[in-house]
Amino acid sequence: MSSTDEAPVRLAEIPDLQLTRNEPLSRHTRFEIGGPASIYAEARTEAAFVEAMKAVNRSHVRHVVAGSGTNLVVADAGFPGVVLTFTGDAITAEGNRVTVQAGASLQSLVDSAIAHGLKGLDSMTGIPGQAGAAIYGNAGAYGNSISDFVREVRFFDGDAIRTFDNAACEFRYRSSVFKRHKDWVILSAALEFQSGDPTALAERAAQIHAVRNAKYPPGMRCAGSIFKNLILAELPARVRAMVPPEIVKGGKVPSAWFLDVTGVKGMKSGGIHVADYHANLIFNAGGGTARELRQVINELKRRVRDRFGIGLEEEVQYVGFDERLPALDTLASTPRIIDELISCMPPDDLNWQPAPGRWCIAEVLMHLAHCEEVCFVRRTRDMLDQSDPPLAPYNVDEFTAADWGFNGDGLAALARLHDLRRTILDMLETQPATSGSRAGAHPDLGRITLAELLNEWAFHDLGHIRQIAEIVRVRRFYPDMGPFRPLYTVNP
Ligand SMILES: Cc1cc2nc3c(=O)[nH]c(=O)nc-3n(C[C@H](O)[C@H](O)[C@H](O)COP(=O)(O)OP(=O)(O)OC[C@H]3O[C@@H](n4cnc5c(N)ncnc54)[C@H](O)[C@@H]3O)c2cc1C
Repeated sequence: MSSTDEAPVRLAEIPDLQLTRNEPLSRHTRFEIGGPASIYAEARTEAAFVEAMKAVNRSHVRHVVAGSGTNLVVADAGFPGVVLTFTGDAITAEGNRVTVQAGASLQSLVDSAIAHGLKGLDSMTGIPGQAGAAIYGNAGAYGNSISDFVREVRFFDGDAIRTFDNAACEFRYRSSVFKRHKDWVILSAALEFQSGDPTALAERAAQIHAVRNAKYPPGMRCAGSIFKNLILAELPARVRAMVPPEIVKGGKVPSAWFLDVTGVKGMKSGGIHVADYHANLIFNAGGGTARELRQVINELKRRVRDRFGIGLEEEVQYVGFDERLPALDTLASTPRIIDELISCMPPDDLNWQPAPGRWCIAEVLMHLAHCEEVCFVRRTRDMLDQSDPPLAPYNVDEFTAADWGFNGDGLAALARLHDLRRTILDMLETQPATSGSRAGAHPDLGRITLAELLNEWAFHDLGHIRQIAEIVRVRRFYPDMGPFRPLYTVNP
């Protein structure tokens, strides 16, 4: 029996575990986005949760743990494995100590603390999701994080149930040791609080709730903030100097500030919108897809990277995208090389011609861009949009620099190549690895898969870009060099 066949059989034997096959994950994410999980398993007891983890580990089947899905971005193709969730939600309070099962909602924990006159979690009222996930991501708001109150966390590490104290949980801003050990699952936690007046705590919670509801209306299909805020001390000095001091809170700079400067508010891609009142809030206005969502996320990251030279890190967690398409990393490295060429190559070098009758480098780049668009980008799009489309062979004679509107400007040629590459990479980065098996029919090559095409492309492209960089380097140091390889005829 294969591991994929074995897992459902093992899981079906576990009491208090409800299994659903091909369950659309859009029903379990606040974005209402995501294709089906092969199996969706809901554990009502801790014992069932632990047994289910043992079963998926033994079967070596892909699996992921989900809470209420308020911080998840799930691929349109879904998740080809088991999605496990825990709904045990007991909460017990004794003196200043509260014990909570991971499947309880954070709001019930907040309400329970307030009702028992325990201070601190009131500022976290209105954060959706389960207590276990809140510990995993060290959720927080208005100056408090859950780590301020956690004393112990019980978790299953795949072999045994263990307990960590607060220090061992390695809590950081929106992070914990559990984020680095995705194979560990949180079962329950003990928290301790100082005493407060229940009426005053409830009033503060109500005020915070009203502010939150204005920012995140209850039905909004979103994940709260998409990106983490940035730690001021970790920013390059050049960027630190640009940040207005009044926006820094608790040593953090809102990522919304960086996004706002790049003018992303109100941006739309299909059903996915950036809120027009908050640059770090992306929502599904209806009919949005994971592909569009990731495109918008990538675009926002790109703008901040281009403007400030810094990377934003997602607070949301991805499901179903964990393996990248083959060759994507190689392809993703070329825009950087192109950027460097743009910034350091004098136009003279771009117009350098190895010998009369040969193309200058700018023309070679233009030709590369043409090949990229007509051969690789078009075929990739066809394969993603249709099932087994016919693929036209690439005819190099189609390319004429004049038809492409090329006026000899080498930097324009580089920019064109860069834009084409960025657009297609953004599209490919939103695809799950399984898309690599999509294919098309080529009249000469027969059936080629997307994975094969990308591999070919990376090889072809990196070779050319490196050759061009090398030619330029050689020309700089040996200005008198002649045509350096008689066989290197770029004009076929
Ligand atoms: C409107 C809105 C407002 C928000 N505001 C805030 C805010 O102010 N502050 C804040 O911090 N967050 C906020 N969030 C984000 C979100 O609420 C939190 O990240 C929350 O903790 C996610 O809980 P969840 O149960 O939905 O987890 P999910 O989204 O289902 O999962 C999140 C992660 O937790 C992991 N996980 C879940 N359960 C377990 C477990 N038992 N053991 C190990 N790992 C587990 C999952 O694998 C996943 O990686 C907001 C979200 C929304 C939609």
